[in-house]
Amino acid sequence: MTKQQAEKKTVKFETEVSKLLDIVANSLYTEKEIFLRELISNSSDACEKLRYVSQTNSSLNKTSQFEIRIHLNEKNKTITIKDNGIGMNEEDMKSNLGTIAKSGTEEFIKKMGDKKGDITQIGKFGVGFYSSFMVSDQVLVRSKKYDSKESFLWTSDGKGTFSIESTEYNSQGTEITLSIKKDESEFLSKYKIEDIVKKYSDFVPFPIFVSSEDDKKEKKDKENKEDKETQVNSAEAIWLKEKSKIKEEDYKNFYNQTSSFYDEPLKTIHFKAEGVVNYTSLLFLPKSQPQDLYHPDRKNNLKLYVNKIFISDKLDALIPAWLRFIPGVVDTEDLSLNISREILQNNAVINKIATALTKRVLKEISELKKKKPDEFISFWKNFGPVVKEGLYEFNDFHDQIFDFTMFNCSEKEEMITLNEYISDYPNDKKKIYYISGENKENLMNSPQMELFKNKKINVLLVTDPVDEFWMPMKMKFKDFEFTSITKGEVDIGDSSKKDMKTKETKEVSDFIVYLKEHLKEKVKDVKVSKRLTTSASCLVADENDMDMHLKKLMAANNQNINDEKRILEINIDHSLVSKVQMLEKDQKDKFSEILYDHAKLMEGENLDDPKKYTNLITELVSL
Ligand code: ADP
Ligand code: MG
Repeated sequence: MTKQQAEKKTVKFETEVSKLLDIVANSLYTEKEIFLRELISNSSDACEKLRYVSQTNSSLNKTSQFEIRIHLNEKNKTITIKDNGIGMNEEDMKSNLGTIAKSGTEEFIKKMGDKKGDITQIGKFGVGFYSSFMVSDQVLVRSKKYDSKESFLWTSDGKGTFSIESTEYNSQGTEITLSIKKDESEFLSKYKIEDIVKKYSDFVPFPIFVSSEDDKKEKKDKENKEDKETQVNSAEAIWLKEKSKIKEEDYKNFYNQTSSFYDEPLKTIHFKAEGVVNYTSLLFLPKSQPQDLYHPDRKNNLKLYVNKIFISDKLDALIPAWLRFIPGVVDTEDLSLNISREILQNNAVINKIATALTKRVLKEISELKKKKPDEFISFWKNFGPVVKEGLYEFNDFHDQIFDFTMFNCSEKEEMITLNEYISDYPNDKKKIYYISGENKENLMNSPQMELFKNKKINVLLVTDPVDEFWMPMKMKFKDFEFTSITKGEVDIGDSSKKDMKTKETKEVSDFIVYLKEHLKEKVKDVKVSKRLTTSASCLVADENDMDMHLKKLMAANNQNINDEKRILEINIDHSLVSKVQMLEKDQKDKFSEILYDHAKLMEGENLDDPKKYTNLITELVSL
């Protein structure tokens, strides 16, 4: 042989992979059988990829029949999974089977730490291939890529390194051989494997055959019998079947296959659209969050097919990023098979489908809220903050999103919608008041809430950071204006004026002027507060400045923000304030700082010198 042989190279797994392998292999969970689902789905992906490539590249020989074959050898204790898909070259093996490109995996590993894992969590990352090490102590991968003459062998015992070398593999595609661990020999039973295939992979669109050494022997014994293996899966495109012919369980299985969730979907959305664009769609609302939901690299989870032929997944244009948690498929006849992926991102048909899908999904969510409020609330807790990202961007869906967007509020235990706010708690000023912060309880206790609580004016208690971004931008819902109560002046309408107990006397305005001057390093302005009833002082942002809590959020994320000073508001009816006001000049200089520190404490902030503050208070009390 003159062909140059690649030297055998042993390579260390990336650190993340090593840690992950450890977690995967040593976790004590019950569903080890999912390794097969993962390998089959990789084979299926490989076949779909090759089918796509040969559709778009006419110079290639078209593979006539894609298939996945599983073979069991009880004597050697091996399972082999073989496909005639796209295959891998040396580089593919190195990067696909040695690293984890998956978004969110790193965080996941950190989270898992040394804990014994739970496969439902692992599955969410599609760390698929590595799950082979749950049941085997050695994995061999032989593969020949569709456009290459060379073939390679990848081996690993899953304990830190893998190696790649040249090999003689004469088929096109990939063959994975698992040496089954002693304790896992149940996976060498043909019945067991057939069961697993039916359970998890029934709708894989290529035929899956299962055979064992025994079958071979039998065949030899009955020499004349035809060599006919039976296909184990149905290989149907479930989304094209008539709804009445699909069982709940089929939907669940398909959901599990496409999403890597292991439970049932919260809601199945299956429909056929005919008209401007024609497509069939099968989508799911999940019950729980995928781990990487907020990871910047997280893409959507929809697959695009043209007449049952897989074209692309994670296509950004197919559904807005704020619905990225929805798994499923979209199949259309209105696209050409040869369309390139670049063109797909900016294609009129895709854009129309995206708009229609979005409308439909939002309608289904509204429906869920009406018909199953409890389920909706759990959905909303998981995905509300993501859907609300849709309010932060310019689009035509705001009204639909507002239909079910819910908020905590100060005047009612349960969450309410904006429509309920404006119909059940209208106010003279046509405002939707809100306050933002860490949690409901803190917000209810904020000094800025005092007047609103007294007057029973409802205030939305906003704790999802995303709200703080769209609310100031959106400005209005119907003709009600979003108004932060920690910013600018309070204006709760005419009725409040009559109640203003104290008129600003000359003494008061002198005191304000004094405080402004004295605290000018610390605050932008000092004002007599209209919003305080029980606290002595509080801080608010100036009308055109960034709101206080948003500023804290940004700072916590190392965002560069203008450090504008805030406004100090004082309650001139408060004894602490009048006490300071009455002091002699030099005493006043000493004690007026208390009013600022007090306001900072009310904001839950740390004082530069807490000891000084306490000493001053003690001293003031005994004056
Ligand atoms: P995922 O399938 O989510 O990408 P996996 O860990 O299951 O993650 O697989 C990693 C990668 O290895 C795949 O993306 C693919 O590139 C490659 N791969 C795995 N199995 C095969 C196969 N049978 N044929 C071709 N490539 C494969
Ligand atoms: Mg996979």
